[in-house]
Amino acid sequence: MEDNKRIVYMDNAATTPLRPEVVDAMIPFMTENFGNPSSLYDIAKISREAVAKARSRVAAAIGAQDKEIYFTSGGTESDNWAIKGVCFANCDKGMHIITSSIEHHAVSYTCEWLEKQGFEVTYLPVDKYGMISPEDVKSSIRDDTILITVMFANNEIGTIEPIAEIGKIAREKGIIFHTDAVQAVGHVPIDVEEMNIDMLSLSGHKFNGPKGTGALYIGKRVKLDPLMHGGDQERKRRAGTENVPGIVGLALALELSVAELKESSERLTGLRNRLTEGLLKIPKSHLNGHPENRLPNNVNVTFEYIEGESILLMLNRKGIAASTGSACNSSSLEPSHVLTACGIPAEIVHGSLRLTIGEMTTDEDVDYVLKVVPEIVQKLRNMSPLTPDELRT
Ligand SMILES: *Cc1c(COP(=O)(O)O)cnc(C)c1O
Repeated sequence: MEDNKRIVYMDNAATTPLRPEVVDAMIPFMTENFGNPSSLYDIAKISREAVAKARSRVAAAIGAQDKEIYFTSGGTESDNWAIKGVCFANCDKGMHIITSSIEHHAVSYTCEWLEKQGFEVTYLPVDKYGMISPEDVKSSIRDDTILITVMFANNEIGTIEPIAEIGKIAREKGIIFHTDAVQAVGHVPIDVEEMNIDMLSLSGHKFNGPKGTGALYIGKRVKLDPLMHGGDQERKRRAGTENVPGIVGLALALELSVAELKESSERLTGLRNRLTEGLLKIPKSHLNGHPENRLPNNVNVTFEYIEGESILLMLNRKGIAASTGSACNSSSLEPSHVLTACGIPAEIVHGSLRLTIGEMTTDEDVDYVLKVVPEIVQKLRNMSPLTPDELRT
């Protein structure tokens, strides 16, 4: 870092830090309570009961029943299992899937792989705010449609999708509805019963829980094949010895996030709005995603005449951790498929910056970012041959 040691972490959509009380709750299951939950002695019983309690906590957080929660290794596994599991178990009924054009790669690459296995996929368009239209979902349904998978909230632009409306349509037509809610769980209220959600993916490390932990909610009516074959764990549907410390940590982090949701989302929305308004004072800047209907922690702005990669490097030197487009894509120069689907022109799509705040973010962090970003944008514009004279200083 250049001139100070301040660290401002604004990449909470990529991952979040563990809460200290979550670490404390996990440690005994890595030390004295190390028993395999499937074994028959006392220390195994402690692990077994901890997993059962964790399952109840996760179920309560999303309005599900305990027996509908299955622990996995993360959001990616939950998405793969939900989609492949339904497709393989129901291909006698049809081979058509409906999804959106802005899904996380854990969903979109799974769908593309299934196309190679003979399935047909409809990728729904989005409007300029990244919203999927329930009408489009309805009109894409065919006699052979077996699955609708649409994300709850987008990881790049923060737009929250009309999930309850899509759920209602899917239920009326008797089609399984899965949602990748990895960015939404613990951040916005969710009730799988009220919203007619049949399957929901969540991931521990996106709500201050441990990495490599996740869950899939599978409603009673869903028929799906396992992805992992082996032992009898998770009601014989997901083989492999349980990650007991991870499961305990995920469940506690989720319970705490949901308990604090209202208060925390009000605070984050205030910080987010101040950040957004401040950044949009920079000339030739545009907000990406929906202006109101978005995650409380997400800011995504495009600055004309600059490269997102260059801003990131300069922000890093100032101790600010942020992302361009999506963190998963930072090693590729492909323009973001999400921003492209929203119709952001190719010439400016590379100048986008995603700042995602979190529990640790303070007012001072926002002040610091609002001081540093305009200076960096100006510096980069002064260096670029494409910048028009009126934007130079
Ligand atoms: C992070 C993320 C995933 C992947 O979750 P992992 O637990 O990191 O595998 C999937 N979908 C969305 C929307 C995400 O933000």
